[in-house]
Amino acid sequence: MHTGSCLCGTVKFEIRGELGPAFFCHCSRCRKASGSAFASNVVVAERDFVIVEGEPSLRSFQSSPEMRRTFCSNCGSPIMSQRGNLPQVRVRMGTLDTPLRRGPGDHIFVASKADWFEIHDNLPQHADRPQG
Ligand SMILES: [Zn+2]
Ligand SMILES: [Zn+2]
Repeated sequence: MHTGSCLCGTVKFEIRGELGPAFFCHCSRCRKASGSAFASNVVVAERDFVIVEGEPSLRSFQSSPEMRRTFCSNCGSPIMSQRGNLPQVRVRMGTLDTPLRRGPGDHIFVASKADWFEIHDNLPQHADRPQG
């Protein structure tokens, strides 16, 4: 199991299952939402993602017709996003408090990458969202 929390500690969550694929997302929305060059997201089954503290402090923002982003309203930490009615969430890996054996395996939305950031690894790069 993995645990995570926001910057101010109000929101705490557990991931009660396996972590799915993880991505470095360079899309412009993730850049704005994170305030950085990219977001690091891991896919988790919705049923395995459980808010254990601070649920009333969570707020959601519909960043596109199909994407909702959920964050702590007290400190602004991005926590996760959910696309449409898919039974999965994308957890912001920087909020995890437990160690991970490995990081993301792909760069996605590289076509939208910040021009001031260069990718210095050999992971696969996808212009937008990979199929599947
Ligand atoms: Zn917070
Ligand atoms: Zn993105």
